Amino acid sequence: MVLESGKCSWGSCVFCGWGKKATDTKGLEQLKQEFDSKLGRAIKAEIPKRIKLFTSGSMLDEQQYPTEFVSYVVSELDKTGIAEFVLETNVLDISQEKLDSLNKHKGKLKILFGIGLEVADDDVLKKLGKQSTVQNFTDKAELIKQNGFGIRAYVLVNPPFCEPASCLDKTMEFALECCEEIVMINTYPHRDAPLFDLWVQGKWRPADQAEFDKLTSKWLKHKQVETDFANYKFVPKFPRRLMTKIIGANHDCLVHPYYQVWQDFLQRFYEPRPEKNILLFIPCAFRKPYKKSRTHRAIFRAIKDLQSYKQIHPIVVSSPGVIPVEFQSYYPFANYDWPEWEETAETKQEYTSVNKERVKLFLKKHASHYKQIFVYFKHTSETRQAIIAALDELGLEYNECLSKQGWETIKDEKNPIIHETALAELRDCLAKAQ
Ligand code: SF4
Repeated sequence: MVLESGKCSWGSCVFCGWGKKATDTKGLEQLKQEFDSKLGRAIKAEIPKRIKLFTSGSMLDEQQYPTEFVSYVVSELDKTGIAEFVLETNVLDISQEKLDSLNKHKGKLKILFGIGLEVADDDVLKKLGKQSTVQNFTDKAELIKQNGFGIRAYVLVNPPFCEPASCLDKTMEFALECCEEIVMINTYPHRDAPLFDLWVQGKWRPADQAEFDKLTSKWLKHKQVETDFANYKFVPKFPRRLMTKIIGANHDCLVHPYYQVWQDFLQRFYEPRPEKNILLFIPCAFRKPYKKSRTHRAIFRAIKDLQSYKQIHPIVVSSPGVIPVEFQSYYPFANYDWPEWEETAETKQEYTSVNKERVKLFLKKHASHYKQIFVYFKHTSETRQAIIAALDELGLEYNECLSKQGWETIKDEKNPIIHETALAELRDCLAKAQ
C-alpha cells in the first residue's frame, strides 16, 4: 500500500529521490478515507497475511502522519484479521511514547518497522547524507525489541563511497544480529538524487543483475534475508538542472558524459520488448525528436503496412551512440545537434571508432534477442561503417537494405536515403523478414 502525505523532513540522503518529492500534506480525515479505500481493495479477494505501507518519508513523523492516524491504521488492520504490518519510518522518529501508543491499539497485529539501515558504517553514512548513525540504529533496535516489535531493515547494495563487497559484508553481519528481516536493495540513480550526478561524473555506477547477484548470493542462506534488484523502474531520467542542448561535432560532444551514462544503461540494464525481434539500424535526423523529421516520416511510411512491422525494432545510431527509438524523446536524444559541416577527417575517424565500440557492446548484450538484423544507411555514411564493422567483428549475420547497385543510382539525389528507389529496396528487404 502506498500512502503519501507531505515530504520527508530530512530529505538529504544522497541516494534517495523519494525523500525530495513534495506531496501535499493530508489531514486526518483525508488520510483515513484514503487508507480505508486502499484497505478495502487490498482485502477484497482475501485477507492477506501482511500489509506493507510505503510512505513519502516516515510514518512516525507527526508532521506527515498524525499519531491518531497511525493508531487508527493499526487498530483497523487488527480488526480485519491481517497478521502482520510493516510500516516505514525514520529510525529517529521511534520513541517509547510512540511504541506505547502502537501497543495500545495493535491488538494481535504483529508490527515490523521498515527502516533504512543502508550501511553499518558511520563514515559512509555521513557521506551518504544519512541523519542517523549506527549507534542510533542499535539503540532503537533494542527499544523496538523490548517493546515486542520487529525490524525489517533495508540495506543498500553497491552504495557510493565504499568498496561494495566489504561494505555489504560489514552491514549484513551487523543487521543479522538485530533485525528480524533484511532486504538487500540495489542502489539506483534516482532523478532527483545527487547520486545521479556521481554516475554522470563517472564516480559511481549502478550494479547490474550479474554484479548484484555476485554481491548478494552469499547472504541468501539466511532465511530472514531477501533481495530486491528491481525496486525502481530504472531509465536514466535527467534532472532539469542538468539539461542543456549539446551542440557540436567534436570530441567533447561525441563522448559527452550524458551519452556515456545512457550507453551504460543500454549495455547493462535495458531489455528490448520481447515482440521486437527484428533489429533495423537506421540513421538519425537533424530534426528532433526524429519522428518529426522528413527522413523518419518517409522511412516509417514506407514500412508501416508490412506484416512484420510490429516485430521491427528501429534503432538509430548517431553521435550519442545507440538509440532505440522508444527513447528518442528522452533527454538528451531530442536535445543535441551534430553539425556535419563542422566535422574534420579526425572527427569522422573518432566518430566511427567510438560508435563501432558502442554498437558492439550493445550487440554483445542483445544480439541473441533478435532473429534478424537489418541495416539501412547511405553507403558513404560513417555510421554505416561503424555498424558494419561491429557486426563483422562479432561475426553476426545481417542484411543491408540498400544495395550497392541501388545506392549508385541515387547517390547524387538531394536526400538519397528517402529516395523512392531506396525506400522500395528497404520495403522489399524487410518484407522478407520473418
Ligand atoms: S532515505 Fe528516508 S530519510 Fe533519507 S531522504 Fe529518503 S525518505 Fe528521507
